[in-house]
Amino acid sequence: MIDFNNPPVVGTEMKYVEDSVRSGKICGDGKYTGLCSGWMKEHFHTKNILLTTSCTHALEMSAFLSGIQPGDEVIMPSYTFVSTADAFVLRGAKIVFVDIRPDTMNIDETKIEDAITDKTRAIVVVHYAGVACAMEEILAIAKKHHLMVIEDAAQGVNAYYKDRALGTIGDFGCYSFHETKNYTMGEGGAILFQDDKYLGDAEILREKGTNRSRFFRGEIDKYTWVHYGSSYLPSDMNAAYLYAQLLAVNKIQKKRMKIWNTYHEGLKDLEDAGKLQRPFIPDYARHNAHMYYVKVENLKVRTRLLKDLMDRGVHCVFHYIPLHTSPAGQKFGRFSGEDVYTTRESERLIRLPMFYNLEMEDVGKVIDAFHQLL
Ligand SMILES: *Cc1c(COP(=O)(O)O)cnc(C)c1O
Repeated sequence: MIDFNNPPVVGTEMKYVEDSVRSGKICGDGKYTGLCSGWMKEHFHTKNILLTTSCTHALEMSAFLSGIQPGDEVIMPSYTFVSTADAFVLRGAKIVFVDIRPDTMNIDETKIEDAITDKTRAIVVVHYAGVACAMEEILAIAKKHHLMVIEDAAQGVNAYYKDRALGTIGDFGCYSFHETKNYTMGEGGAILFQDDKYLGDAEILREKGTNRSRFFRGEIDKYTWVHYGSSYLPSDMNAAYLYAQLLAVNKIQKKRMKIWNTYHEGLKDLEDAGKLQRPFIPDYARHNAHMYYVKVENLKVRTRLLKDLMDRGVHCVFHYIPLHTSPAGQKFGRFSGEDVYTTRESERLIRLPMFYNLEMEDVGKVIDAFHQLL
């Protein structure tokens, strides 16, 4: 059986996790949390980054810090994970879904302006498969209408728009280090922002509404409850695992690209024969091989193919029932304009096995299975 996903293991994780356990301090904001944020500051050129317990929580923090109020409208694609919307729904926002581009599966930047009303406060972009959205166009729209831009870069860690790391371009960026993502700590994430004015509030929000972060830095002699907040900081043991992965960033990226490129070359003839469509990478995007997907003719072909692949020991999956068609999506959101591509394209998409420890021999077997079945 060829699995769809396994958590990445480079081999050095236990060394750092053990060091963390032996250090006698395994709660949040310890040595490894600092090492991870320092590493990412330097490599992704972000002024501020705070590790969080998940990308979902980073998105929740960005909704708080953006000052989203009940009744505000937030624009985003419908083709995304539930957390992208949930984080804003929790603040009482109404979600306005915009159609995607069929080539990248990202929000269609040309359809954003039609969705803007006098209640719109923010645009949330999702860099699907680690392939950048058209950020210059989106930033220009946001500037013109005075809107916040939040990047759901859960899949976009170590991926770039031109030379800028995803997550560092909007007002807030949110990373995921879930075990299904390129770099992991089991469960975890990070919030990024370039404007220092958010740092104080972000630290308080993340530390149960207290100024404990300032206390730890020795800036005040006792800490107290100063605002509302929650507990968004991860254990330093998890950060130790992540640190091992960050130090192996090039090794992980290289292997994932090798798998991605092997699929891409291996399936070209099937695209030429009109049997499937391969992913498209715009010139402005440098992706991170987060995902390899293909699109087949329609839902019926996909359902059949997924079953036949499974029978041959190849576990492929689909994901994201468009949010506007879900019970919660209907309650909390509306679709702006016409759903031309969101439903149609999502029903055609199949994700292939893709993870760091995947054997190249198995990649070949997956390619063979597609040839036999199509
Ligand atoms: C994985 C993912 C999330 C959620 O990440 P968690 O760290 O599991 O909370 C959010 N948005 C997108 C696009 C994702 O792929």
